[in-house]
Amino acid sequence: MTTFESADIFGKKKSILITNVNDSTGPVDIFIDASETISDIGHGIRKRHRGEAEFIVEGDGALVLPGLANTHTHAAMSLLRGYADDMILQDWLSQKVWPLEAHLTGEDVYWGTKLACLEMIRTGTTAFNDMYFFMESAAKAVDEAGIRALLCYGFIDLGDAAKREHECRATEALVSHIRKLANPRIRAAAGPHAPYTVSPEGLSWCAGFAREREIPVHIHLSETEKEVNDCIAQHGKRPAALLDECGILGPKTIAAHGCWLDDAECALLGKRGVSVSHNPASNMKLATHRALPCRELVAAGANVCLGTDGCASNNNLDLFEEMKIAALLQKFFWNDPTLLPAPEALAMATANGAKALGFGPGTLVAGAPADLIIVTTKTPENTPLHNAASNLVYACNGAAVETTICAGRVLMLEREVPGEAEILAGAARAAAQLVRRAQSTA
Ligand SMILES: [Zn+2]
Repeated sequence: MTTFESADIFGKKKSILITNVNDSTGPVDIFIDASETISDIGHGIRKRHRGEAEFIVEGDGALVLPGLANTHTHAAMSLLRGYADDMILQDWLSQKVWPLEAHLTGEDVYWGTKLACLEMIRTGTTAFNDMYFFMESAAKAVDEAGIRALLCYGFIDLGDAAKREHECRATEALVSHIRKLANPRIRAAAGPHAPYTVSPEGLSWCAGFAREREIPVHIHLSETEKEVNDCIAQHGKRPAALLDECGILGPKTIAAHGCWLDDAECALLGKRGVSVSHNPASNMKLATHRALPCRELVAAGANVCLGTDGCASNNNLDLFEEMKIAALLQKFFWNDPTLLPAPEALAMATANGAKALGFGPGTLVAGAPADLIIVTTKTPENTPLHNAASNLVYACNGAAVETTICAGRVLMLEREVPGEAEILAGAARAAAQLVRRAQSTA
C-alpha cells in the first residue's frame, strides 16, 4: 500500500500521492506536494506524479472527502463523558457539570483536548471550534495532535464589572498567546459565552475587540426557550436583536444552537451573514424542545454548519453521527421528510463548516488545504454503494474513516494513530483524579 514504512509518515512533511479514490465527481488521484495544500487532483493524474511522490496511499476505490469541521464544541469536556446523563439542563449544569469544572486544571484541559483531538482524527474531523478554559493548554494539545482549531476563552461576566475586566484580560492574553505560537493550524476567536451570561457591555467589548483584531466571535445563542423569555424580560428584545445591537453579528460570527430563533431572527442572521452551528444530538439529549429552523436560516442566507457540542451532552465527537442526527431531527421535528437531504448534511459538515472556521473552502480542489479523509467502502455499511452521500450520512459512522490527513500530514493511516494508548491512559487518569478532587471537597 505504501512506498516506505508507514511509521515514518506520521506527522511528516512529505509529498503524498493518493491513487484511485472517489470524490463527488468520480474516480480521482490526489497529489499533495511538500506544501500544505492539494497541488493536483483529477482522473489519471497518478502517472504525472508517481515518480516524485515520497509516499503513496493506494485508495482501492475508497471514498475521499474534505476533512469534516466541527463548528461548536468544548473539547476538554471529553473528560466528563458519561459523568452525568439524563438530567434536566439546569440541574445537570448546577449539580454536576459546574461543581466538577470548578476543579479543572490546565493539565486536565490538556489531556481532555488530547483525547478529543484523537477522537476527531479517528472519526474524520480535521478542524474544530472550541470554547473553554485554560485554552493555552488546549492550544498545546491541538499543536501536538496536528489538526486545526479556532480557540476561544469562554467569557462570562454575569453583569459584574470587576469580573468583566478579568474576562477582557483573559481574552486578550489568549489571543496574544495564540499569535505568538504562529501555528497556521491554530487561530483565536473572541468567546462571549451567551447573551444570558455576558452583559451588553461585555458583548460590546468582545465585538469591538474581535473587529480590531480581525478574529471571529464564537457564542451560544437561543439554546432554550427560557433564555429567550429571560432576555425579553430583561432587555425588551429577543437575543439576536440584542447581539446585533452590541455589534456581535457579522460574517465572522459563529452562533451555536439557535433552537429558538424566530423568523425575524433568522432573517437578521442571514442578512449579517452569520454562521449558525446546528447541534442536534446535544439539543435532543437536553430536550431543548425545538429544532434549529434550518430551512428558514438557509433561505435567509445564513451559513448553517454542524457541531457536536461538548462530550458531556452528546456524548461523542463523531460528525458522521451528527450529520445523520441533524438530517433526521430536521425531518422529524418540522414534519417534512424532504428537509436536509444527505448532500446538504454533508455540505454542512464540510464546506459550510470550513467557511465558518476560515480554514479554506472545505472542498477537494487544487490549491485548497490538504485536509482530507479516506472512507473505506469495504464494509457492510457501505455495501451496496448506490449513492455515496446517502451512505456517508445515513449508514456510516466515524469508524468508516481509514485515513486522516490535515495540512498535508498523515495523522491516521489505516486506523492507526501514533501515541493513541498514551493519550487514552493520560486522559482516563486526568478524569479520575478530577472526580476525586471534586468529591473530596463536596
Ligand atoms: Zn456549547
